[in-house]
Amino acid sequence: MAHVTIVGGGPGGYEAALVASRLGAQVTLVERDGIGGSTVLTDCVPSKTLIATSDLLTDVSTAGELGVKVPASIRADLASVDARVLRLAQAQSDDVAHRLAASDVVMIDGTATIETAGSVRVETADGEHLIETDAILVATGAHPRVSPDAQPDGERILTWEQVYGLQELPEHMIVVGSGVTGAEFASAYNGLGAAVTLVSSRDRVLPGEDVDAANVIEDVFTRRGMTVMGNSRMASVVRTDAGVRVTLTDGRTVEGSHCLLALGSIPNTQGLGLEEVGVALDDAGFIAVDRVSRTSVRGIYAAGDCTGVLMLASVAAQQGRIAMSHLLGDAVHPLDLSKVSSNVFTSPEIATVGMSQKQVEESDLQIDVAMLPLASNARAKMQGVHDGFVKIFCRRGMGVVVGGVVVGPRASELIHALSIAVSASLTVDQVADAFTVYPSMSGSVAEAARRLHHIG
Ligand SMILES: Cc1cc2nc3c(=O)[nH]c(=O)nc-3n(C[C@H](O)[C@H](O)[C@H](O)COP(=O)(O)OP(=O)(O)OC[C@H]3O[C@@H](n4cnc5c(N)ncnc54)[C@H](O)[C@@H]3O)c2cc1C
Repeated sequence: MAHVTIVGGGPGGYEAALVASRLGAQVTLVERDGIGGSTVLTDCVPSKTLIATSDLLTDVSTAGELGVKVPASIRADLASVDARVLRLAQAQSDDVAHRLAASDVVMIDGTATIETAGSVRVETADGEHLIETDAILVATGAHPRVSPDAQPDGERILTWEQVYGLQELPEHMIVVGSGVTGAEFASAYNGLGAAVTLVSSRDRVLPGEDVDAANVIEDVFTRRGMTVMGNSRMASVVRTDAGVRVTLTDGRTVEGSHCLLALGSIPNTQGLGLEEVGVALDDAGFIAVDRVSRTSVRGIYAAGDCTGVLMLASVAAQQGRIAMSHLLGDAVHPLDLSKVSSNVFTSPEIATVGMSQKQVEESDLQIDVAMLPLASNARAKMQGVHDGFVKIFCRRGMGVVVGGVVVGPRASELIHALSIAVSASLTVDQVADAFTVYPSMSGSVAEAARRLHHIG
C-alpha cells in the first residue's frame, strides 16, 4: 500500500487526503494551525459568514422600496457577529476533521519540513518525528502580505485574519487594496454600517475583474456612501491617538478608526526544505507545478495557494485531487483553468466563468457577446434589484458558450447554468431552450443566450 504524506490541511491538502484514502493509500496529513486551513479558519469561511450578516442588513436597508417600514436603529452587534463567525469556522474545521478520521487519514498536529523526496520531518508538541513516505503533497497555502511601513498590531491596523477580534463596529474602516479581498471587506463593513474608505492604487476597484462588472460595483459603493480613492498608493499606516493615519505616496493622508490591509498573499514555501531537495520555485516563491500538480522533483506534488496557479479554494481542492489521481494511477483530467468559475462576494456579487472580456479581446477567436441588464428582468423589478447584468461570450458560428459574467444578488448561484454550458460546450441555443421559471433572475441568463441566436 502506498504511503502519502500531505503537508497542509486546507482544501488543497484535505481533499487530496480523502481521494488518496479512497484510492487505497495510507495517508498522513500534517497541519500546524488547524484542519481546514486558512480557507476554513481565517479566510474564506469567516469572510463569507461576516458577509452573510452584511448582506442581510443591505437587504433590510432597501426594504422601504418594498413597502416595509424598518426602524433606523437596526444594526449589527459586531461582538455577536464575530463570535458566530469564529464558532462556525471551528464547526466547519471539526466537520472536515471528522471526515478525514472516518477515511482513516492519520492527522498530525505539527510543523513539517521536507527532508528528502521520501521523508518528512515533523515537529510536534511531544518532539520530532521522521515520516518515511512514498510521495509528498505540499499544500501549505499562503499568508497575508504586509509592508514594513504598515505593520499590523491586531487592534487598529489589521490583516484579514485579525478582524474577527473586533468587539464593536469600526467607526471608520480604511481598507487598503481594492483587489477581491479588499473589495469584499469594504462592501461588508459598508453593509454593516461603518464608514468605509477604499484606497486603491489603480484607477478603479477590482482591476483584475470584468470592467463592466467593476464599474457597477464602484458605482454601488459610492452610491452607498463609501469613499473610493483611485490612483492612491499607500506609503505607510500608523496609529494615532484617535485611530489610524494612512499616508499616500503623493503625501495626502486619510484618518480613520481602523485600517484593514488587503495587499495580497505570500506563499508559505520558505523554511520548508523545498529548495534543498530541488523543488523549483518561481521568483515570487510559488512552487512551479504542471497541470497534474507535479513539481520538479519526482514524488513531490504541490497544490493550492503555495503554487499560485489561481488562488481559490476550489482550484486548490482540484489540484490536490488531480495530484492523488495521478500518483495512484486513477484516471487523470489535467487542470483546465478555462472552465473555472469564481465569485467576488461584494454586494451585488460578481460571478465569472471561462473566458473573460480581456481574454476575448486578446484572443484570435471570433467571439460574440451579449449583455443584458438585470433591471429589465421582472423578478428583479419585484425584488427591487436595480444593479447587475448577465453577459455571455460564445464562439461565432457554432454558438458554443465559452464564458460568462453575472453581476447581481446571489450571482454565485446564477453562474452555475453558464458553468455547465462552458464545461459541457453547450451552445447558446441549448442554454436558451432550457426552461427557466417565470419570473426568475435565471430568465435573464436564458434571454442573454437567446440574443446570441441570430448570430450563430
Ligand atoms: C479573505 C479571503 C477570502 C477568500 N474567499 C474565498 C472564497 O470565497 N472562495 C474561494 O474559492 N477562495 C477564497 N479565498 C482563497 C482561498 O482561501 C485559498 O485559495 C485557499 O485557502 C487555498 O487553500 P490551500 O489548501 O492552498 O491553503 P490553506 O487553506 O491556506 O491551507 C494551508 C495550510 O497549510 C498549513 N501549513 C503551512 N505550512 C505548514 C507546515 N510547514 N507544516 C504543517 N502545516 C503547514 C497552514 O497552517 C494552513 O492551514 C479567499 C482568500 C482570502 C484571503
